[in-house]
Amino acid sequence: MALSGIQIFKQLPKTNCKDCGYATCMAFALQVASGKASIEACPHLSSDVAAGLAAVTAPPVARVEFGPKDRPIVLGEETVLYRHEKRFEHPPALAVLMDDSLDDRAFELALDEFNGLQFERVGEILRPQLIAVASADPSRLAARVKAVSERTQAGLVIMADDPEVLRLAASPVKEVRPLLCGATLGTLESVAALAKELGTAFVARGRDMDELAEIGRRCLELGATQMILEPVAFTAGDALAAQVFTRRAAIRDRVKNLGFPTMALPCRLASDPLVETTVAAGLIAKYAGVIVVDHLDSAHISALLTLAQGLYTDPQKPMMVDPGIYPVGGPGPDSPVLLTTNFSLTYYTVVGEIENSKVPAWLLVM
Ligand code: SF4
Repeated sequence: MALSGIQIFKQLPKTNCKDCGYATCMAFALQVASGKASIEACPHLSSDVAAGLAAVTAPPVARVEFGPKDRPIVLGEETVLYRHEKRFEHPPALAVLMDDSLDDRAFELALDEFNGLQFERVGEILRPQLIAVASADPSRLAARVKAVSERTQAGLVIMADDPEVLRLAASPVKEVRPLLCGATLGTLESVAALAKELGTAFVARGRDMDELAEIGRRCLELGATQMILEPVAFTAGDALAAQVFTRRAAIRDRVKNLGFPTMALPCRLASDPLVETTVAAGLIAKYAGVIVVDHLDSAHISALLTLAQGLYTDPQKPMMVDPGIYPVGGPGPDSPVLLTTNFSLTYYTVVGEIENSKVPAWLLVM
């Protein structure tokens, strides 16, 4: 049960010292209660009170981290169902599936194509973050996992049902902390132990909500919090409903067993690229944390990344460029000076228009 601002305030020192950055203890308590400040910002709490408050004010969706240490993929820590209530915290990670349908040559070409998938939008570089590797042959799976780690900068999702096959493929690349996918109720303990040993996270698959909640309960008992839930779905509608149900249960009803990031696999729900992209777009909007697609088409990938970027910017902080004067198209001293705002979307639209006009100019950003 979440605490109210008054309940949190009662446990604060009430000295109004301002060390937390707020004018009064009450103002701080209200911000903590609404999820806009962390209890750790008050340095004057006893360790018992701090630990107790941290436990009850922690985000209802656990933080999960995997991937290379220098470019980790972080999911979870979400506190709201709707972006306008505060903001969404961590954008979903898009994974491209490379499975046994690719022969060795096609696999190499796909890796090269993946490496070229990079887009710039409003000053940010967007790219899919993950490659998901699957194979019925354990040695081939291990070889392909190794090839991905050597030939790309992508994070890895290793897909295998047998914990020993996961170990064989993941151990040689443990420094990149691959996401292990995945556990079932029957293999939960083994996969959780392997993930802990390798310092990474794992995915656990549940056939329905009861099974997912039981998986969550057992993981909490085991102390295995670096876990992502995968609700099994056979239609796009079921997939969407499962994502919404899981997130609502975690945030609105504070069901701790379901308070984990989630995975969705549009690659298993549609064979047509456009349908797959449409399904994936719905799952980006409705809370999936890892989204696996199996089409490498740049138009589709860029559409999904653009959608995620738009949804996961802070609505209270518009994306802005620094004020200043920017050259566009190699202007000289007699080139025109144009004036625009510092709102990123406007700036990049205006820059595009100037470039298309072929008239070099200075762009003054207020
Ligand atoms: Fe109150 Fe702690 Fe903030 Fe000081 S730092 S004003 S004691 S909440």
